[in-house]
Amino acid sequence: MISFDYVAADDLDAAARAGTASTARFVAGGTTLIDLMKLDVERPTLLIDLNSLTRRDPSMSTITDLPGGGLRLGALARMGDVAWDERVRRAFPFVSQSLLLAASGQLRNVATIGGNVLQRTRCPYFRDTAAPCNKREPGSGCSALHGFNRTHAILGTSSSCIATHPSDLAVALVALDATVRVRGARKNERTIPFTAFHVLPGSQPSRETILQHGEVITAIDLPPLGFAKRSVYLKVRDRASYAFALASAAVALDIDGGRIREARVALGGVGTKPWRSTEAERVLRGRAPNDATYRAAAEAALAGARPQKDNAFKISLAKRTLVRALTEVAA
Ligand code: SF4
Repeated sequence: MISFDYVAADDLDAAARAGTASTARFVAGGTTLIDLMKLDVERPTLLIDLNSLTRRDPSMSTITDLPGGGLRLGALARMGDVAWDERVRRAFPFVSQSLLLAASGQLRNVATIGGNVLQRTRCPYFRDTAAPCNKREPGSGCSALHGFNRTHAILGTSSSCIATHPSDLAVALVALDATVRVRGARKNERTIPFTAFHVLPGSQPSRETILQHGEVITAIDLPPLGFAKRSVYLKVRDRASYAFALASAAVALDIDGGRIREARVALGGVGTKPWRSTEAERVLRGRAPNDATYRAAAEAALAGARPQKDNAFKISLAKRTLVRALTEVAA
């Protein structure tokens, strides 16, 4: 039994100040954190429940139109509410699809947008306290490197960690160039480009984002991007429901006069962070939308892949996933 204190925060600044303690954790839906506490992987001494913040500031859980287009998703908005929002579905189909292909209906009703992008890896060794894991216990080693690593990453890995980032939503957000809005303990606010929000494991895999202790995500902004209306999130997994991606692709294409004017490409299930492929986008830009173009883009996207002994299949799987997503969105 783990002993911890619990506080239901009704003031954002007080919550942020309390959150500066290294053993404090914010909780909203709790769909990752409570699991990890049960497994003894997370051992917070203080849980700061953010749900009551919506009493003072309802925008923390709603979706609002931004001036000039775009949408602001309150960090405490539930995955299900965002997925089914008509504005999200119309302007950003891949955001809606990425949410609907994640978790289960029940989980989507409680899990929040802010929590989703902060969820921890599903590496089984991370969740097993008997196994060495640099992410959980810095300096202890990486069990996956020489263990069973079928589901692990092939892009962005290091000799310290090869865990995949699990969020589907984050793949669509990194393709979209979304922005994360955060507030710190000194009432300081900053915006972080989603492409810079998650970090590669390097020699410090316990650090997963550039957030500081005490910083609270208040919202995620979806910028206006006209051609995101033509977008797709495609997810390939071991079973058709309630499973994490082996490979996924979030793509948007702007096609005009038989040429691809602009493209957005990101991959999931294969990277140590949500993986934007500007290499694939460069290949697509200016070319005719056809199978040869899509295959060339897929080659470029996976050119830097470094497989482990059990997951080399992910290279061809990710390429096929990307080609199929591009074919679907162009159609
Ligand atoms: Fe831990 Fe990362 Fe290695 Fe998994 S891959 S055991 S999370 S260090």
